[in-house]
Amino acid sequence: MQLKEPIEDLFQEQLQDWPLAAGNYADLQQVLWKDIDFEGFEIKIQFNPERIRSSGAKVDRSSIQQRPCLLCAGNRPPEQKGLDYPPHYTLLLNPYPIFPRHLTIPDTRHVSQQIQGRIKDFLSLARDLPDYTLLYNGPKSGASAPDHFHFQAGNKGFLPVEHDIHFFPGKKLLKQEALGSIYSMENYLRHCFVYESNHEEWLLTRFHQLTQLLQAVQPAEEEPMFNLIGWKEESHWQLVVFPRKQHRPRQFYETGDNQLLLSPGVVDFGGVLVVPRKEDFDKIDKNVLIDIYSQLTLSDEATRNICRHLIG
Ligand SMILES: [Zn+2]
Repeated sequence: MQLKEPIEDLFQEQLQDWPLAAGNYADLQQVLWKDIDFEGFEIKIQFNPERIRSSGAKVDRSSIQQRPCLLCAGNRPPEQKGLDYPPHYTLLLNPYPIFPRHLTIPDTRHVSQQIQGRIKDFLSLARDLPDYTLLYNGPKSGASAPDHFHFQAGNKGFLPVEHDIHFFPGKKLLKQEALGSIYSMENYLRHCFVYESNHEEWLLTRFHQLTQLLQAVQPAEEEPMFNLIGWKEESHWQLVVFPRKQHRPRQFYETGDNQLLLSPGVVDFGGVLVVPRKEDFDKIDKNVLIDIYSQLTLSDEATRNICRHLIG
């Protein structure tokens, strides 16, 4: 399915007809950034006040039940137009962007955020959106609407991880098979597994294996906690899975000077930490990042254990 032109047309039309979105995309060009260097990679900090809605969102069951779902077609802003993506997705402009081109891709039905059975769709979208990187937040790993299934997409080349998986020296081969390879990233602030293949079935099988291993670590969760990033390069897909043990850092729940209003999801694990308050933006340094990511990423021990299974 060729989507390049229809999506570009959607952006042109929406930025012309929808003042809220136009204003926020214009403001995005002015946001403050700072880069924090680690050995062999960096984390970019984006000060983005409009993201307070998502970072501060109440995601407990009763708050979710009491608010209208903005991903349901009937509740969306009247200006928001969509592009159908068969069999049951809609491509929408995200009116509160992090990326210069930011799409939200909800299911047309109000069904909960669960990835099972959808990796095929994820791979198709990555193939059909060659200028975009596809994103998925688990229901307890950053999704601000965990009751309505959605992917996101952002323009390619924006997230540091897309570069890092080619150049970071800590990338370690775990397993090489005829149809694809599995890697982990060592000393990368957060744990992740990288799957590289041009074979859809191989990726489906291997992703299923990984989610089973993660599920064994978190048997009480409906879906193990992780974020997923994927894109298609010329000959193959890249899938990057960030296993998690927590959604928000303890500083989120503090008050006064100790509070950091951060709600890290897939973009933050991809290497762009989104910070909606200026005072937090100013406070964040290398040590704060080490503390925050270590609270959220899967433990070293559990990750080592999973690596052993993946190698075996
Ligand atoms: Zn909904």
